[in-house]
Amino acid sequence: MSDDTTAPSRLLLVVADGVRPDVLADELAKGNLPAMARLREKGGLHTVSSSFPSVTGPAYAPFVMGRHPASVGMPGLRWFDRARSLRWSYAQARSYSGVDIWHVDGDLDPRIPTLYDLVQPSLAGLMMIARGATHGRVGRGIGWSLRAGWAHFRGDARAWRRVEQAAVREFMRRFTRTRPTLSMLGLLGPDKLSHAHGADSAIVRTAIGDVDAAIARAQAIAAAGGWAEGLRIWVVGDHGHAPVSQHDDLHGWLSARGHRVLAHPTLGTRAADVALMVGGNAMGHLYLDPARTRRAWWPELTARWQPMLDALMERPASGLAAVAMGADTVRVFDREHGVADIVRSHAGHDARWHYQVIDGDPLHLGGSLADLDASDAWLAGASSPYPDALVQLSTLVPSPRAGDIVLSAAEGWDLRARYEPTPHVSTHGALLRDQMLVPLLIDGPVTRPPQRTTDVVPSALDLLGVQTALPFDGRSFLR
Ligand SMILES: [Zn+2]
Repeated sequence: MSDDTTAPSRLLLVVADGVRPDVLADELAKGNLPAMARLREKGGLHTVSSSFPSVTGPAYAPFVMGRHPASVGMPGLRWFDRARSLRWSYAQARSYSGVDIWHVDGDLDPRIPTLYDLVQPSLAGLMMIARGATHGRVGRGIGWSLRAGWAHFRGDARAWRRVEQAAVREFMRRFTRTRPTLSMLGLLGPDKLSHAHGADSAIVRTAIGDVDAAIARAQAIAAAGGWAEGLRIWVVGDHGHAPVSQHDDLHGWLSARGHRVLAHPTLGTRAADVALMVGGNAMGHLYLDPARTRRAWWPELTARWQPMLDALMERPASGLAAVAMGADTVRVFDREHGVADIVRSHAGHDARWHYQVIDGDPLHLGGSLADLDASDAWLAGASSPYPDALVQLSTLVPSPRAGDIVLSAAEGWDLRARYEPTPHVSTHGALLRDQMLVPLLIDGPVTRPPQRTTDVVPSALDLLGVQTALPFDGRSFLR
């Protein structure tokens, strides 16, 4: 019964956190990643876009749930719960880079299943989103979190690597025992080291070698157990990385304009008039009049806030800002390249995007565009400075938990000069190309080029023969 032709397919999805596609390709070309090179021989290495904001946590939703993060309730690494939708939160604020990491799974829309729910037995290792994993969520226990948090707040990337290697060993023990149909393993070393040393530094390349070693170990386990034939392995990134030399004190600027600002870690601000939630750190949500529990559209807010937005767009740190004119219209401002509206019509897989230039061409799409489906909308921005901006901004900006102003930092900048525990030379979070583009390594042929990380989930279900009528944001590249 268990000969090669009937061997069941199992999928191990490895998350190479923060690995740039060009650095991965270069390491492959140098022959430093033998396990991944063999996977590529059977399929190919693709460059796809992540979701905005391009930051660990939100950017895991696409390949765990097949949805953009804002559409499952996670608009950012830090966000403000204007609607008081959470059962527990301090000052209605979330920061998944701190203790709120406990709440990630619970904050996600409970009606939307994860890949772990859909394909069992399932196993998660060092995954920011692990809800539904039936055979363990390695790295989510209190001991792991304490040690990982300690390494993070001391900015000690080498200590992090030791914690991570121990977690990988535990993952492999369970992988051996369970033979999961679906498993996901995140390796965060490359991201942490990129912040400190740059995304193409020697030590980051060593950490990418750790990803290759983990893949080789999983293959050896499957070979020893006689199930190597049915084991498929894909590798995906969650966000890119880009050099940063200027750290904007957005908090200080807002305070200097006379605003009372609620922001991490000073959440005790009374009668705040702006909640500033920067995460990435090259993006931020600005929630205006945070005492208001109802989400408002921008036309209601202009009387009080248009001057602040105009002043914000004068600042060199501000790349792109976006506001919701309504549930389906987003107005986008670029500091140097003007203003346009993104309009979405229809819903689900029939959705269409329209780009209506008002003045200039903020998204660099060459002028107004109409009636693009999800695939054409991606292609329209494929070589632009803001990949997938039409779909990303129209999904994030009007979403219930997003800020009234969504800000993406200019190149070379991030937005959190205060309270960062570690010096950093590389950043992410923005809608910019180097931060949005990620690698996707597939160990088999595809029937159409993958575009987005959201495509991974419907494709994985096709690979594993699981039928579902769920409305994913992504589309299978195996159909
Ligand atoms: Zn990072």
